[in-house]
Amino acid sequence: MAKIIEKDNQFVANTYARFPLEIVDGKGSIAKSSDGKEYIDLGTGIGVTAFGYCDERWVSAVKEQLDKVQHTSNLYYTQPCSDLAEMLCERTGMKKIFFSNSGAEANECAIKTARKYAQDKKGEDYYKIITLNNSFHGRTITTLAATGQEHFHKLFKPLTDGFLHADANDIESVKNLVDNNKICAIMIECVQGEGGVVALDDFFVKGVWEICQNNDILLIVDEVQTGNGRTGELYAYMNYGISPDIITTAKGLGGGLPIGACMFNEKTQNVLGFGDHGSTFGGNPVACAGAISIIERIDDKLLEEVKQKSKFIFDSLSGADGVKSVSGKGLMIGIETVKPVKEVMAYCMQNGILPLTAKTKLRLLPALNIPMELLKKAVEIIKQACKN
Ligand SMILES: *Cc1c(COP(=O)(O)O)cnc(C)c1O
Repeated sequence: MAKIIEKDNQFVANTYARFPLEIVDGKGSIAKSSDGKEYIDLGTGIGVTAFGYCDERWVSAVKEQLDKVQHTSNLYYTQPCSDLAEMLCERTGMKKIFFSNSGAEANECAIKTARKYAQDKKGEDYYKIITLNNSFHGRTITTLAATGQEHFHKLFKPLTDGFLHADANDIESVKNLVDNNKICAIMIECVQGEGGVVALDDFFVKGVWEICQNNDILLIVDEVQTGNGRTGELYAYMNYGISPDIITTAKGLGGGLPIGACMFNEKTQNVLGFGDHGSTFGGNPVACAGAISIIERIDDKLLEEVKQKSKFIFDSLSGADGVKSVSGKGLMIGIETVKPVKEVMAYCMQNGILPLTAKTKLRLLPALNIPMELLKKAVEIIKQACKN
């Protein structure tokens, strides 16, 4: 352990504050570290391993494709790419998909599309995009500009021009920006993840959708974290009864390999044409084969289980000793604790569970199929950890 820490510190860029823990093996919701300890995983590599470590169906889908073709350029067709696109369209009602390799890239694609849509229809000066304060949309210079948190911005200015930030759940602040600026799109996370696991109000999300429809402004939902079954629906916007013009997703879609998707509806499907956008790795057949094995399992039965497990967590922790509040949707949960979250986190890790944090909260993103008995065990440890 000391050796790997030393080597990593010497050779890997200093951008991550890692815990002193080396994960060497895992199965489902159990992670094993190099010192032989087992942990109940509640973070899924930040919402990525949707069915846990080395899930059998995912592994065999990936292996099967690896023995055929690992990569080809986007000059040629591959079956997994078009199959996954078809599957996503059928499940969402969207019309076309652009594949990228990460969440930030999926958002870049959405932003480029929104700008081109408005430029074609209304003129070049309609390039501004409204996002929300406390949002998170990625780490590229443009998606940082979209991210409504000043502390991410300050070291890297000037960022891409044209992003305005409204307040979450304050529809007047959105209206005000729309009335006074030339806006091409509004981009929201239905549940703000990095911002502290805060679900937007139903009234607000519907209001934003209405404003978009009335002003021919595109509604982009960033489902990078909330997507792919995480909130108890296939995509989080489905909890709100709205129809976005563009959906972006990544994280859980790949089940562990890098993939992002930007989905277009009727209105936006033909905005990007030949040569307008591209990606060398986008639509990689191995990543797509894995993603198909994830999406095909997110059916009504699984989503119902996600909702029940969510209810169990909310019921167990709401009002528990040392718990100020429980927020979120589905298996995307934030826990505000009386004790500093660092202390709670340290207790959790010492006692064999691996949650995440978001701002000052404990954050849970367990596997969608985490067995109930492991979840019960984990919730007991969280209760102990929070106790005053
Ligand atoms: C993680 C995240 C991103 C960025 O995704 P990357 O794959 O890290 O580029 C964007 N938006 C949201 C809502 C996220 O949670």
